[in-house]
Amino acid sequence: MLLAMMLGWVLMQPGALATAQRCECHLDQSHVELVRERMRLGVYDSGSITRPTEFMVVQVKWHVLTDTSGNASIDATTLDDYLVRLSQAFAPAGIEFCADPEIDFISDNTLFANVQNTYELRTLNSTEDAIDVYWCPSVQGGGLCGSSSYTFSPVQGVVMQTSCQGAKDVSGVLIHEIGHYFDLFHTHELNWGFDCPNGTLCSEVGDLVCDTAPSRNMLFETCVDPTDCSLRTDESSCIEGYPEPLCDGSPFLESETRNFMSYSPVHCLLEFTPGQYDRMNATYWNLRPELQAGECSQVDRCPADLTEDGLVNGGDIAVILTQWGTEDDQADLDGSGTVNGADLAVMLNSWGLCW
Ligand SMILES: [Zn+2]
Repeated sequence: MLLAMMLGWVLMQPGALATAQRCECHLDQSHVELVRERMRLGVYDSGSITRPTEFMVVQVKWHVLTDTSGNASIDATTLDDYLVRLSQAFAPAGIEFCADPEIDFISDNTLFANVQNTYELRTLNSTEDAIDVYWCPSVQGGGLCGSSSYTFSPVQGVVMQTSCQGAKDVSGVLIHEIGHYFDLFHTHELNWGFDCPNGTLCSEVGDLVCDTAPSRNMLFETCVDPTDCSLRTDESSCIEGYPEPLCDGSPFLESETRNFMSYSPVHCLLEFTPGQYDRMNATYWNLRPELQAGECSQVDRCPADLTEDGLVNGGDIAVILTQWGTEDDQADLDGSGTVNGADLAVMLNSWGLCW
């Protein structure tokens, strides 16, 4: 009994600490030092990287919690939509995302009801060369919108709650968490010190990105006007309880309220800066080699192009006819076990140029 109580206490601690947080993306002091050293060494500097002209394609692996009755926390259509918006948000960095077509459904009534320990969850069916994203109806009693890892985190992966502070569309939160995965920090980050409005240390304090506005650590729910995502100037409504930076009194008029890496209302998460795109690039090339080995680039975007000439045309029909009635894996486009008229129909549906 005592052991059970003690165990319960230990397990409760992360949740108890995190309920006041929107995003579980804690930095240890050793990580703070590591990042500072990386900044000094230029690891996060993308200037020397020669980017290819084509997009880098990063693979995402969806893990979806279900209950034992088969109710899923999120549907495939919504995931497809979120993936498109994730790619749109990262496109200026030359990064796009594809999803492993096989969704990993995790059937567990207890986890479906509530995920208390996001680190344990991220050990379930995790992959090596994709970003593991776990979808849950409730994380830490509903108090946590998302959880992510940095390049230096001991446990990798992203945990997403399917709603966030009343918002049903959480694509902005997903983009925020994947931002952390590429070592972007909150625009109101305090671990490296305050980024003062009149400061000149933008690469050493705050979020360590120079073109994001110095941002106060504020109560975004009341500081940001949800109708236009602007910063409220009524100081008393939003500052209480939040420590103000020790600047010289200059007001934080430019605080980020539309940046994906802020804590603005979810519908206000709309943009990254060029400096943040640079960080994503540097992280991808210098610190995330596993993502470069992902299988997305090897995904067959055009299975009906049997001759692999970039076109679905008469040459491919000829292959179908040659294999007619056989069990040929490649020509059996609908996976029915036999090459037949249905495969021809699939082929005609994707007639023309492949991409
Ligand atoms: Zn965050």
